[in-house]
Amino acid sequence: MNLTLPNDQDFYWKDGSLWCEDVSLETLARKFGTPLYVYSKHALVSAFNAYQSALADHPHLVCFALKANSNLSIIKLFGELGSGFDIVSGGELQRVKAAGCDTRKVIFSGVGKTVREIREALLADIKCFNIESPAELDRIIAVASELKLRARVSFRVNPDVDAKTHPYISTGLKKNKFGIAYEDAVSLYIKASQAPELEVVGIDCHIGSQITETTPFADACEKLCTLLDQLAEHGINLKHIDFGGGLGIKYGTETPPTAKELMAALRRVLVRRGYGDLEMIFEAGRSLVGNSGALLTEVEFLKSGQLKNFIMVDAAMNDMIRPTLYQAWMQIVPVTPSNDKSAAFYDVVGPVCETGDWLGKDRLLSVRQGDILAMLSAGAYGMTMASNYNSRCLPAEVLVNGEEAHLIRRRQNYEDLYRDEILLTR
Ligand SMILES: *Cc1c(COP(=O)(O)O)cnc(C)c1O
Repeated sequence: MNLTLPNDQDFYWKDGSLWCEDVSLETLARKFGTPLYVYSKHALVSAFNAYQSALADHPHLVCFALKANSNLSIIKLFGELGSGFDIVSGGELQRVKAAGCDTRKVIFSGVGKTVREIREALLADIKCFNIESPAELDRIIAVASELKLRARVSFRVNPDVDAKTHPYISTGLKKNKFGIAYEDAVSLYIKASQAPELEVVGIDCHIGSQITETTPFADACEKLCTLLDQLAEHGINLKHIDFGGGLGIKYGTETPPTAKELMAALRRVLVRRGYGDLEMIFEAGRSLVGNSGALLTEVEFLKSGQLKNFIMVDAAMNDMIRPTLYQAWMQIVPVTPSNDKSAAFYDVVGPVCETGDWLGKDRLLSVRQGDILAMLSAGAYGMTMASNYNSRCLPAEVLVNGEEAHLIRRRQNYEDLYRDEILLTR
């Protein structure tokens, strides 16, 4: 227990066990079974309020990026706190509706919006489409014209800044598929501003995820301000500037800026460049939910290989793909540590038939069969990336509020696995 816990406010040691708020994780694992996602309501609220208070003196909208964690109860909670939503599909728009939240606070991002998705979003009167290509601009004009509705739009500009994060989650470089080229922005804005079907309201960028410094954000902000200057020369004045998401969290030894520090860095640029009055929008995903969640899993077997020791657990890459997809390091601890077994280095692996099925490598742990392990910082890009690979049932999800633990997604059963399939009978 040398490493500090990533969120020791809401997941902390008490009486020799790890707790979430006022419930022990051991109790939750025994009650709801494993693998189990556990979220702390207090952590979710605190993370959201950190943004809100950092932006309190300025017009702003914090939009929760649904793809990080799209459970209806979590969407609803953020909606009640005043959040907007960043969506990347029609399915996510439907989730916002199903959670009873305001679709007029929705920002629609993504490189491949279909005609159907654009129609649905227009009918839902969303706040803004973040356009990512010239072809998408044409498509939105066509759909708006067909529906006789006006679309509010922004362009996602690629500022070509290095977010210094993993290549798979770095999105603001010239070589990435995202956004329109910086050099094309002015001419596209002029075209959009001349289309009666559109109201050009903003500019946006999203440079990557798990960014642990303020500099890439400030650099992107400078570049967007330069574009705003050029647009103003053409008589185009925008209402908002959207910085995307990407603020990092602590998994291990990272020391990401706080929301307050990030806002201070951005405000400095905006004020100096004369854009201090623009509405500031954020599409925050990981930083709102990441450290609110843990994935609980039970030790099935210990196995000594010829070169390595393995802990076989009942969670796998299909439940949590971040380690193998991004080589992400996430803290793994026994929820009730005991010292009656000597510690050894283990790879923590699941039962899926893939060498890539691992959750942690070379971890010094002291465990026995039947112990419960917690994988921390699992609230973002955990459950939303889970799949049924190997015909494994999706885990359950629980939201803890003080002493209460609410099931917010039941565990799948075997029938769920093939419910949508059609068995040909001849
Ligand atoms: C994924 C994504 C986000 C959220 O990113 P986080 O790193 O989770 O904050 C925001 N905006 C867009 C366009 C995205 O693709």
